[in-house]
Amino acid sequence: RRCLNRIKKTQHLNAYITVTEELSLKQAQESETRLLRGIPKGPLDGVPFTVKDNFCTENIKTTCASKMLKDYTPPFNATVVQKLLDQGAVLMGKTNMDEFAMGSGSTDGAFGPVRNPWSYAGSYRTRARAEPDSDWVVSGGSSGGSAAAVASLTSFLSLGSDTGGSTRNPGALCGVVALKPTYGLLSRHGLIPLVNSMDVPGIITRSVDDAAVVLGVLQGLDMRDSTTVPAPSSGMELPQDFDVRNICVGIPKEYHAPGLSEETLAQWSRVADLFERAGARVEQVSLPHTQHSIVCYHVLCAGEVASNMARFDGLEYGHRSPADSSTEAMYASTRHEGFNDVVRGRILSGNYFLLKQNYQHYLEKAQKVRRLIANDFRGVFCSGVDVLLTPATLTEAAPYADFTREDNRTRCAQEDVFTQPVNMAGLPAVTVPTALSRRGLPIGLQLIGPALGDRKMLSVARWVE
Ligand code: GLN
Repeated sequence: RRCLNRIKKTQHLNAYITVTEELSLKQAQESETRLLRGIPKGPLDGVPFTVKDNFCTENIKTTCASKMLKDYTPPFNATVVQKLLDQGAVLMGKTNMDEFAMGSGSTDGAFGPVRNPWSYAGSYRTRARAEPDSDWVVSGGSSGGSAAAVASLTSFLSLGSDTGGSTRNPGALCGVVALKPTYGLLSRHGLIPLVNSMDVPGIITRSVDDAAVVLGVLQGLDMRDSTTVPAPSSGMELPQDFDVRNICVGIPKEYHAPGLSEETLAQWSRVADLFERAGARVEQVSLPHTQHSIVCYHVLCAGEVASNMARFDGLEYGHRSPADSSTEAMYASTRHEGFNDVVRGRILSGNYFLLKQNYQHYLEKAQKVRRLIANDFRGVFCSGVDVLLTPATLTEAAPYADFTREDNRTRCAQEDVFTQPVNMAGLPAVTVPTALSRRGLPIGLQLIGPALGDRKMLSVARWVE
């Protein structure tokens, strides 16, 4: 009930697309009965959670923040949602996002932008108070609703999705913990795809310990997703005796990227120094293909988007235009009416990259570059580095007006410079908040681990936290 009240009080954040009030109360009551009887279903029994609106939820609308799916109600739960429900966790609602998870601000959804709760907290608040409608900062994205829901205490755990940074970016900008597990460790069944070869469900919580518990619950093989792998360990809690003196922390020199703010850089150095003083080995390392990662990501992303979005033709799912002069006219106007500019742009460029005469030059080349990026990471981890420490974002959260300026689109793509390479290599990464900026906004750092090294990486993250 407290969470539901807070959802009402924080409606201005626009973090939710659907609030499942009736269902939440029913689930909470059942959970209370179990807890009072001392027979909880699991460690998450009674914990309020939220789900990004691109995970299918049985009998609950799943819109991907798109007009195309605004009335779509799936007949089944995504595996990760089902696992949480099986544990007795209480669903509070579906969270807002960029349309089809394309974006990094949560400003491009059909239901309006998500406001970062920090716009109304701490020292930023005075400015936002003076001009509550114009002076607020973006939540990051595309899982901005999930991060805002956890940061504003309307739920304690949220599922996001992470294809190029969509869980970690809003996590860092909203000051919460955001985990992108190793590709394949969590099932994608029921997650409406963006880039199948990079998508992973992400976990947003208020602490690293919470993220570890949720990972323990969600990980493992799923017969409905052939890319899943067995969980390397069954434990949920992180070891209490983790010794940071036994680890080697790599600092990738290429991550001193153009546009990195002074304050974020200062945080990065401060935490690297903390490691060193605590007795960890801190080494500069090189990931030479980083510079190609944004372009490479966007070619691969558009290619998979063009193919994934083909299913939305007005026949099987979602919106159907009344245009009926021909089947082609119906397809065309359905897709014109249903998708925003960003989605249509990616479909167009993806189909261009996929043309027979372009395929080798773009798609195939991008796949080769992707392999080089993955090999860079592999080399570093094979040389004895346990985790990489990097910034999570270039800067703190930007004011909405700046973020959405037309001439800013390319800069927005650059925002993912620290997160996208990780998806292309399929590695685990987590962002943790480490400080507030001068303006009172959260700054987060990222830790990256080797494939299936999720738990060790989380142990290091807990030390940073
Ligand atoms: N910002 C990136 C994009 O627009 C990443 C999105 C994501 O991770 N879902 O594609």
